[in-house]
Amino acid sequence: MTNKPWGRMVGVRPAKQLHTLLDKGFDYEAAFEYMHSKHGISKEKFDLLWRVAEVERPILSESSRPGLFSVYVGIPFCPTRCLYCSFPSHSLKELGKLRGQFVDTLLWEIEETAKMAAKYKLNPYTVYVGGGTPTALSPTDLKRVLSALREAFPGVLREFTVEAGRADTLTDEHLAVLSHHQVSRVSVNPQTMHGKTLELIGRCHSAEDVDRAARKVKQAKIPVLNMDLIVGLPGEDALMVRESMEQIMALAPENITLHVFSPKRASRFSEDRRQFTLPADAEVAAIHRMATEMLEKKYKPYYLYRQRDILGGQENIGFCLPGYECVYNIVMIEERHHIFGLGGGATSKIIRSDGTFMNLSNPKDVRIYIERVKDMVIGRQAELPG
Ligand code: SF4
Repeated sequence: MTNKPWGRMVGVRPAKQLHTLLDKGFDYEAAFEYMHSKHGISKEKFDLLWRVAEVERPILSESSRPGLFSVYVGIPFCPTRCLYCSFPSHSLKELGKLRGQFVDTLLWEIEETAKMAAKYKLNPYTVYVGGGTPTALSPTDLKRVLSALREAFPGVLREFTVEAGRADTLTDEHLAVLSHHQVSRVSVNPQTMHGKTLELIGRCHSAEDVDRAARKVKQAKIPVLNMDLIVGLPGEDALMVRESMEQIMALAPENITLHVFSPKRASRFSEDRRQFTLPADAEVAAIHRMATEMLEKKYKPYYLYRQRDILGGQENIGFCLPGYECVYNIVMIEERHHIFGLGGGATSKIIRSDGTFMNLSNPKDVRIYIERVKDMVIGRQAELPG
């Protein structure tokens, strides 16, 4: 027996395993018995998984209808690179001059994807613009991208998310563009509300910038505001996390995503690892439990995923006010319909007729993306079942 909270479970999608059991008719007791004896999952984590699965089931049933797809757009630019980042993103100083050329290429890829969707009689379900930081584009370039998406995938989308992860990038002009294109969910991601930690992790904004950006999203009447927070950042203890949580919750976002620090090989953190002190597993577990209990007073967990080196063997959890689940997050994690990943470093998931799927990733380097986009579009189309 193991004392790891998720036992011997490997893989990023534990809820997917539970859904497979539910599809076979397992009830709560039988599913727990199976997952506990096979993987050693704790009762606490199984109960969390069960609650997540209960929220996800109706959305999975809706999004598994034949002929649906979602679109993920990767905008691979950020003002600076965060200490822990392993995402496909370039700092503006490094390659910001390629933003215009990138957008021209992306518009072509969006148009070609719309033609492919029409040819295969596929219908758009959700659109998610992430990265990177989409609001690192100028308002004019952001407008070009959102207009192209609206034109390529017309009609009512179930959800349209745009990330504005770095609070200092979100201007009134960006917000006007988001509202004009009926964006339904915006993500402003502070990670912590402590200035010292923000500086340490390389984000060039303050807690006041976060506060201002979140209030602006609310004033613009965007239906859903998401805010991300990370437990286990170097130098942060329980009190600091509690303070950040209180400040974020006071802004009343509809979604809060609670991440746990996960050292990635391709990050600056791993290069300079010896400079930083991370909390021990037991401390991470205690802080995570405290943060979860604070959230549970108002929010409910609606999706979760794990990462290989996540501190304390914990998980990342999306919380929402009832009825405000991020549908794209659920669809992407549970892999029930095609996702066309467009832009820098974006990954497409093509679901085959037998329910298995194939991942195809666009190049992470924006220069190679611009060069090779045609190959990516042809490759994606070749994998679609006829
Ligand atoms: S904001 Fe996100 S994508 Fe950009 S550098 Fe930080 S972690 Fe990476």
